[in-house]
Amino acid sequence: MSLNFAHARFLTSVPKASLAPPDAGAEVAFAGRSNAGKSSALNVITRQRALARTSKTPGRTRQINFFAVDDRLRLVDLPGYGYAKVPQALQTQWQQQLTEYLENRVSLRGLILLMDCRHPLTEFDRQMLRWCAAAELPVHVLLTKADKLKRGPANAILLSVRPQLAQLHPQATVQLFSALKKSGVDQASAVIAGWLTPVAHGAAGGDSSC
Ligand code: GDP
Repeated sequence: MSLNFAHARFLTSVPKASLAPPDAGAEVAFAGRSNAGKSSALNVITRQRALARTSKTPGRTRQINFFAVDDRLRLVDLPGYGYAKVPQALQTQWQQQLTEYLENRVSLRGLILLMDCRHPLTEFDRQMLRWCAAAELPVHVLLTKADKLKRGPANAILLSVRPQLAQLHPQATVQLFSALKKSGVDQASAVIAGWLTPVAHGAAGGDSSC
């Protein structure tokens, strides 16, 4: 089943996981290093030029932003991690928020993890993959800004990432993605729809842990 993400609208922005909207229905979260292309990806997947601008609003960059696809399904923009200029204490605080959310959110069906294809699998990305593997949370990796590389080198990176990914999270999947060229958008959307579909069909009800 395909879901129409074009109807997504901003729902709320919260400074910590404990203030998130009710944990019902289903949601898919987006995470990645700052500047990995998370906002751009959210915008092309939802076919909205400025949906994720909310996430860039000063004061909201460190918040968890929720977007409603419909009254039961949500996309979630997690704070970009690993921003070098942020003091260590704040980084630690963000990581605590991320882990709290990833480990406790029952309606969370999967994580879209974005990595610049020219710098994949940073230590933060690896940590994220280990957390998700431990929480048995499905992960799909977008190797972003694929337009920055020619097809051959981009495919070589995809091939080199796969086995490393398998070590960190055996079920994780990966693809090339370009928000600029809008390539890989259908594939990414299909993965997200696949995670959300049981709830869209009204089967799972959102109360079972993933
Ligand atoms: P975020 O910090 O992860 O939300 O990243 P943004 O979506 O704001 O993107 C960071 C920078 O990368 C911006 O200058 C974007 O224009 C650029 N960018 C994002 N996606 C792409 C892409 O697919 N191709 C190229 N060439 N640049 C991109």
